[in-house]
Amino acid sequence: MTDKILILPGDGIGVEIMAEAVKLIERLKADGLDVELEHALVGGAAYDACGKPLPDDTLTLARQADAILLGAVGGPKWEPLDISVRPEKGLLGLRAELELFANLRPAMLYRQLASASALRPEIVAGLDIVIVRELTGGIYFGQPRGVRTREDGQREGFNTLVYSESDIERVARAAYDIAMKRDRRLCSVDKANVLECTELWREVMIRVGRDYPQVALSHMYVDNAAMQLVRDPKQFDVIVTTNMFGDILSDEAAMLTGSIGMLPSASLDANGKGMYEPIHGSAPDISGQGVANPLATILSVAMMLRYSLAQADMAERIESAVGRVLDQGLRTPDIFTDGCRKVGTAEMGDAVVAALGEK
Ligand code: NAD
Repeated sequence: MTDKILILPGDGIGVEIMAEAVKLIERLKADGLDVELEHALVGGAAYDACGKPLPDDTLTLARQADAILLGAVGGPKWEPLDISVRPEKGLLGLRAELELFANLRPAMLYRQLASASALRPEIVAGLDIVIVRELTGGIYFGQPRGVRTREDGQREGFNTLVYSESDIERVARAAYDIAMKRDRRLCSVDKANVLECTELWREVMIRVGRDYPQVALSHMYVDNAAMQLVRDPKQFDVIVTTNMFGDILSDEAAMLTGSIGMLPSASLDANGKGMYEPIHGSAPDISGQGVANPLATILSVAMMLRYSLAQADMAERIESAVGRVLDQGLRTPDIFTDGCRKVGTAEMGDAVVAALGEK
C-alpha cells in the first residue's frame, strides 16, 4: 500500500533544507519507493497564512499520514507574538495531538568529520548511538506543581516526577524495538538509588525485557551515564531514559559530534508512526542564503524509512550516500575544513542524490 508522507517545511532554513529532502524522496520514488507526498504549513508560515501555528487542515493531514517530515519552525519575526500562537506551539501541538511519546535522538559521527568534535578523534570517530527519551511524561508534566508559600512565610517551588507502569512500558517497548534493529544492546538510565519512580522504571525495563531475549539490557545511573558519554561514548548502542534525563543527555551526546547540521531526530507513537526532523532550528542568521546544511534533514528521511516505513535498505543507501559525499570532500560552511570544497544547500542535496546510484 502507498505510504503517505506529510511534508512540513516550516520557517527559515526549513524551507531550503526540505527542498533537498523532497528531491531525494522523488529520486527514491523513481527507484520504486511507494510513497505519496502531501504538503502543509506549520509554525510562523502557518500563522501568517491563517493566524494559527497548527492549522486544523495540517493536523488532519498529520493524523492521516504514515509519517511526517518537518523542517524547523520559528524566527525573530514571530517572537513578539503571544506565546499561545508562537511557531513552537505548532510543534508541541503535533507532538501532543499525535501522542508522540518516544523521542529518538541519534548521535552519529561520520569519521570524515571527527575533527569537528571537541573530543579526541579516536574517542568519537564512527560514533553511532541512539538515545530514546520519554517525551510526554515525567517531571515536566507531573502534578502537583507550582510555587507556594509555607506557613513560615517562605516560598517553595515543587514539581512531581511521576510515571505509571504503562507509561514506562510503552517507551520500553519502543526502545527494545529500536535495539532489535541495531546492535541489540540497550542501556536504561535512571537514578534508582535515590528516586522511587525510577526504581519502578528499572523494574518495568527488566520485565519488558523478558519479551526481548535477544537484547542485552544494562542499567546505569544518570550521573555515571553523563560521565561515560564523554569518556567512552562508543560503549553504547541504544540508551533509554526519562524525559528530563533524556533532555540533558541527548544534548550532551549531540555535542560529541560537533555539528548541529548533521543530526536527525524522530518522535514516535505506539504504532511506530513518527515525526522526523533535524535537531536544529530555523537558523535565521543564515536563512535565504542557500548555505544551510541539508544533511540532518536528509538523514531524517533515512530514519523515517527505517522506523516508520520498514525500508531499512533504502535508509542504508541514503546513509552510505552521505558518507560518499563527505569522502568526496564536499562540505557546507558549517562543517568546512581546509582542503575540502565548500558547497551550498542545493549542491549538497544534488551530490547526495547522485551518490545514491554509486556503490
Ligand atoms: P538554530 O538551531 O536555528 O541555530 C543555531 C546555530 O546553528 C546558528 O548559528 C545556525 O546558523 C546554525 N545552524 C543551525 N542549523 C544549521 C544548518 N542546517 N546548517 C548550518 N548551520 C546551521 O537555533 P537558534 O538560533 O537558537 O534558534 C533559531 C530559531 O529556531 C528560534 O526561533 C528557535 O525557537 C527555533 N528553533 C526551532 C527548533 C525546531 O523547529 N525544532 C529547534 C530549535 C530552535
